Amino acid sequence: LRIRPLTQEDLINLPSRFQRNILSNSPFTPNQVIVHGDKKLTFNFDYVFGPETQQKDIYDTAVRNMVDKFLEGFNVTILAYGQTSSGKTHTMGTSDSVSSNQESRGIIPRALHTLFSYINSTQFKSRKITMKVSFVEIYNEDLIDLLIEGEDENRPQVIIREDSKGNIIWSGLQEIKVNSVEEVMGHLTRGSLNRQVGATDMNSQSSRSHAIFSVTLCQQKQISSNGISSPTAFSRPSTPLTPTKLGSPPSRRLSKTMSMSLDDGEWVSITSKFNFVDLAGSERLKRTAASGDRAKEGISINSGLLALGNVISALGDPSKAKNTTHIPYRDSKLTRLLQDSLGGNAQTLMIACVSPAEYNISETINTLKYANRARNIKNSATVNQEESGWNDLEHLQNLVLKLRAEIKSIR
Ligand code: ADP
Ligand code: MG
Repeated sequence: LRIRPLTQEDLINLPSRFQRNILSNSPFTPNQVIVHGDKKLTFNFDYVFGPETQQKDIYDTAVRNMVDKFLEGFNVTILAYGQTSSGKTHTMGTSDSVSSNQESRGIIPRALHTLFSYINSTQFKSRKITMKVSFVEIYNEDLIDLLIEGEDENRPQVIIREDSKGNIIWSGLQEIKVNSVEEVMGHLTRGSLNRQVGATDMNSQSSRSHAIFSVTLCQQKQISSNGISSPTAFSRPSTPLTPTKLGSPPSRRLSKTMSMSLDDGEWVSITSKFNFVDLAGSERLKRTAASGDRAKEGISINSGLLALGNVISALGDPSKAKNTTHIPYRDSKLTRLLQDSLGGNAQTLMIACVSPAEYNISETINTLKYANRARNIKNSATVNQEESGWNDLEHLQNLVLKLRAEIKSIR
């Protein structure tokens, strides 16, 4: 949970009697927030970040260890949830640019900074690495590729498919190869300028769409016959992020997969995907005094978040979970795109963003309840590793011939 400070806009726009701060950290229980409304409510989270929290603190405490996981081969997703102007875009850094102030930079630029410093280190010298980024927006249930240049009509349709292993594939989406933080920031800025923004009463820059910025990392590395990979261990120990929620320890899974290697010096490739999700405002429609087109957007935004809520509820409510076999991923583009990340093969962090002001109390309580349910979701993440050439027919045929010859000689 992140509680933003009162902003200049709040001081100007909110009636002064509703500017009162209604949230506080529990003095006795860590990571518990107290809502001081008509009655006192308490909610527990994995972390509670107060208004004084800096961008760096959020990154170091909650995000950095997920970047380590990503490098190990896990899929990672971070979602920012909350009403308009609660601090989602600020926290994620979705519209940061190369020129934005270092201190105010959000999660995306910080994560990429860490990623590139690892990739350029000697530790990674022996690996072949490619990194690609994509940026997609869901606006009125349409998928829009934010990195495509040129005419609207020529944009290929983005389609969501599922492969034989049940992985979700976003086909038709532009994936751009990147070699530096600056390149990534360039694409991020270009994409966020393409984002649908419209003025509502609540926030003049209000983003009425969900935006998903993704980084795909493909690492090829050589492993030796004893199943130990060449230098991979990270020197810095990472503090686990609520390990019980994140499935089994990675080391065990890693060694298990690797022991399947057949030969000396086998190359394996590990592909992992990092999704940074900046969700549209979660407020109820009437709050934004929307009309016409804007009202239509509001309705479809709510349907995406509603579907997300239903998926979270089906996955996360222990009383329902027993009887639920059907998880309604297909009810919206948003949940379909994030299927892997919600109770699937990913390490997931949801950052609930709230305003401290009494004026927003009902939306704040909605967000706290929603995030609390999301906390019950259990994901099981595994490293996406396979032997190089596993999909290459010629390679496999040669391998069969080689193994046959070996068996023959043994006989
Ligand atoms: P959202 O994306 O949820 O609509 P924004 O991230 O655009 O909200 O935040 C709304 C305003 O509040 C912006 O002007 C932003 O700079 C400011 N803001 C949000 N969070 C913080 C924070 N933690 N510290 C300082 N300013 C913040
Ligand atoms: Mg925003």
